[in-house]
Amino acid sequence: MPPARIIHTPEEISRIRRAAMITASVRDDLAAMARPGMTTFELDTLAGELIARTGGKSAFKNYCGFPGNICISVNDVVIHGIGRTDVVLNERDIVSIDIGVKFDGALGDTALTFGFTEQPADIKRLMNGTQNALMEGIAAARCGAFVHDISAAVEKCARRHKLSIVREYVGHGCGIELHEPPQVPNYTGSGRGPRLEPGMVLCIEPMLNLGTESVKVDRADGWTVRTRDGQWSAHYEHMILITENEPEILTWQKTM
Ligand code: MG
Repeated sequence: MPPARIIHTPEEISRIRRAAMITASVRDDLAAMARPGMTTFELDTLAGELIARTGGKSAFKNYCGFPGNICISVNDVVIHGIGRTDVVLNERDIVSIDIGVKFDGALGDTALTFGFTEQPADIKRLMNGTQNALMEGIAAARCGAFVHDISAAVEKCARRHKLSIVREYVGHGCGIELHEPPQVPNYTGSGRGPRLEPGMVLCIEPMLNLGTESVKVDRADGWTVRTRDGQWSAHYEHMILITENEPEILTWQKTM
């Protein structure tokens, strides 16, 4: 039996495309509105307002009990950070926002890491390297290739930038449910996975660290994932549609 994957119907794809576009617009609007001095709770509240304005709903709120509207992960937080009234954004911070929006029975899922000011060289390497890993993973997502080819491209790029790869969390199929098969790891070694076919929708999301790959979950909130050595981490995520030709990036930034 081939590994599980979901081929979406053209009708589903048109709804998924719209939900993904909405999610990308919330991501970009929120990143543009974030300011040093805001708490991450204020940023989460703002995200909730932006999502509500689209007519959609947060796909993360209450997912397995997650309390926030979005995930906000600052500096050494890798993913799944929750907006907090006691975390104030600093000018030198880097902030990852991960946003899921449900709209008309479909959903979008995308993430971005941004800063407020010129960053030191190693942080630039972290951010650029992680973004490049995402784009190289996407470039490998061609019809007829395997999930393994995406993983290999991400891994190769991470190595080239001397960044370590978080292994506990992976990309995934997406579209109607938040997490659909298959898993899309950011590293190789777990088999080649399913063959890529038109109609598959995948979230590719490298989570790369400057220091150790090792992470730990905050015992107090049960969600926040931090690097074990306290060095910083970045996370970028796009949702793509496999087509007969090049993959279509469903969460590309607005061009208008
Ligand atoms: Mg995701």
